[in-house]
Amino acid sequence: MHELQVTKRILDIALKHAQASRVNKVLAIQLRIGAMSDLEDQWIQKYFDHLSKNTLAENARLKIERAPAVMKCNDCGHSFEVSIKEIDKIQCPECAHASSLTFISGREYYIKNLEAI
Ligand SMILES: [Zn+2]
Repeated sequence: MHELQVTKRILDIALKHAQASRVNKVLAIQLRIGAMSDLEDQWIQKYFDHLSKNTLAENARLKIERAPAVMKCNDCGHSFEVSIKEIDKIQCPECAHASSLTFISGREYYIKNLEAI
């Protein structure tokens, strides 16, 4: 159900933008989603198709790109990109500590661009 809420929010924002700039139709929405988020592309598009019926954004295509996940080491302050597959065994590449790492980015999502006519 997580995707449904996020998709609804994305649609709301897109429609707000579309209305503010008086477009006739939204053709595509470029989304940037953090690599750590558990949102799945196919579900977002599926929910979007459903939610956007009879709106300016009906049939709009979602172009989803993934932003890299970045962590910061609290011991030495070094920040580095991480791969989701290695999330269980991540350690700081600078000081090799694994105990105190925080996410800087990777869970966010936002609309990067809106294509409309
Ligand atoms: Zn470190």
